[in-house]
Amino acid sequence: MSDPLQAIAATRTALEDNASARWIIGFSGGKDSTAALKIFTAAFQKARPRPSFVDIVYCDTGVENVVLDQYVRSLFRSLKKEFREEGLPFRVNILTAPVSDRFFVKVIGRGYPPPTNSFRWCTKNLRIKPVAKFIGKAAAEDAIVVLGMRRSESAQRDRSIKKSGGSMWQLQREGKHAYRLFLPIIDLDLGNVWDAVFMLGRPISIDHRKLEAIYRGASGECPMIKAPDAPPCASGRFGCWTCTVVRRDRSAEALIEAGETSLKPYLDFRNWLAEVRNKPDWRWPFRRNGVLRPGPFTLNARNRILGELTLLEAKTGGRLLGALERKEIFRLWDLDVPIERENGLR
Ligand code: SF4
Repeated sequence: MSDPLQAIAATRTALEDNASARWIIGFSGGKDSTAALKIFTAAFQKARPRPSFVDIVYCDTGVENVVLDQYVRSLFRSLKKEFREEGLPFRVNILTAPVSDRFFVKVIGRGYPPPTNSFRWCTKNLRIKPVAKFIGKAAAEDAIVVLGMRRSESAQRDRSIKKSGGSMWQLQREGKHAYRLFLPIIDLDLGNVWDAVFMLGRPISIDHRKLEAIYRGASGECPMIKAPDAPPCASGRFGCWTCTVVRRDRSAEALIEAGETSLKPYLDFRNWLAEVRNKPDWRWPFRRNGVLRPGPFTLNARNRILGELTLLEAKTGGRLLGALERKEIFRLWDLDVPIERENGLR
């Protein structure tokens, strides 16, 4: 195990040795990526030579845990100001998936059942692909991606880290591109991570007490880079408020218990979605490839889900479906009407 000061020293060396590379920090707002950002910032301030600019990327899935998403958006506003005032050449980028890949376009438009561990279609579409695309554009310039990934995070992740050498450096392949991952907190334990979050001063915009408060009950983050073995969703993990990969959304439950009652309607919707997912009469009796196993939601079911989502929008005052997403959903419905007719489903 190392500590935050050792991680800063190693990051400083990495920056000085690779000052001409294109550095990108994957940031989810959670404790691990916050610790990684703080360590990186401390190292960057000391490094000479150092990269002329650094990109911070955050992936907005459109269904992010509402409390964490609001926290990250307000943090980014302050960070931009702070970076400008401090003369730090850090750029903040919010990435989104194309309309056709968004969560509700897949569920309500195409009829995808909400994800489970055995049919987890979402992480790749919502998080990994947008980030991979961003890195792909930069990869020609020798990209190095900084992630807040830790050895002790999960047994499965430990195995993937071990397989790839277990050092702060890993090689990542994404389609045609290969780039390096730099993992400054790989050897930090949980206590060290919180030490880094609390003790390191920069960026000052990060309100560590707020982060600690919203983090109670959560123990991990949904990945934005494809790990060699896909890590499982931890039971208390920050991610999408719609996530049905976990049996219970313990982080939302903990937040509600701590007073974030505005999350309750989202949690109720998510629980309802997990329940209707398995109703046989809500699904086609066949898959799109013809296999006789429960397939997409029927158009009736999709309509019901859209109705519930519209009610949720009214309850929360939030915009959960944009105009382009609605348009795409109706286009996809039109394509499925003949299939339902041919198969006596309407
Ligand atoms: S948090 Fe859940 S729903 Fe969201 S991308 Fe990750 S696994 Fe999928």
